[in-house]
Amino acid sequence: MNRSGLWLTWAELVFLVLVPGILGWGKEGHYTACKIAEGYLTEEAFAAVQRLLPDSAEGDLASVCSWADEIRFHYWWSRPLHYVDTPDFRCNYEFLRDCHDSYGHEGRCVTAAIFNYTRQLSMYHNSVLESSYNLTEALMFLSHFIGDVHQVWDTMIIESALKTFYDKDLTNMIQALQQNLTNAWLNDASSWANCAKNETVCPNAFASESITLACKFAYRNATPGSTLGDEYFLSRLPVVEKRLAQAGVRLAATLNRVFASQVKIAKA
Ligand SMILES: [Zn+2]
Repeated sequence: MNRSGLWLTWAELVFLVLVPGILGWGKEGHYTACKIAEGYLTEEAFAAVQRLLPDSAEGDLASVCSWADEIRFHYWWSRPLHYVDTPDFRCNYEFLRDCHDSYGHEGRCVTAAIFNYTRQLSMYHNSVLESSYNLTEALMFLSHFIGDVHQVWDTMIIESALKTFYDKDLTNMIQALQQNLTNAWLNDASSWANCAKNETVCPNAFASESITLACKFAYRNATPGSTLGDEYFLSRLPVVEKRLAQAGVRLAATLNRVFASQVKIAKA
């Protein structure tokens, strides 16, 4: 198979879209989203993050944003928490239908995990309750899962973009996204940060967006048996880049709300 540039066969694409969470955004995607989030933290949230990060992170949240992927074979129970199980070719997300593991256990999916770890982190200011949770792991899980729930396609588009546009340097890509956030996406970015009804976090809305985008863009112009070329890559890349930026802005907004003194979390 010709692999100069981004070439996905139809079978590979279907695999990636229908089996979400197996590869996730990959290290680069999670690092990018968390690096963007770092720039939007309030002083209060920044201080809490610094206190909770493990020593190995050396103060860098982005460096632990793939931790949840690295430990999924050790923490076997966490495996279904990286995705939602939407039925094939359904273009919407429904919590009761889609949030379960392969045994059908309700609430075992990425959106429920985001609610759970957000709730745990909201104990940060409660010295009695705080000790019942491992808030360092809660922070690392939440930072990763907010990335996962924004996933539309997979690492290959990011990897190809790094080669084609960013001199194989992730810092260049992150800087380009940060620039977009202060220019082209400036107005949008403030609305990305908000949830309806003033909720602390709204993963159901994020999952709905991802599934709608996957239906709208992932299959279109992808003919079975063909290879997907430049046109496919160039038209989809902006969607992937915007999702990474949204994940970053929303992670920061969630942490800012969580680590502010008063926290209110809606039920799933
Ligand atoms: Zn993941």
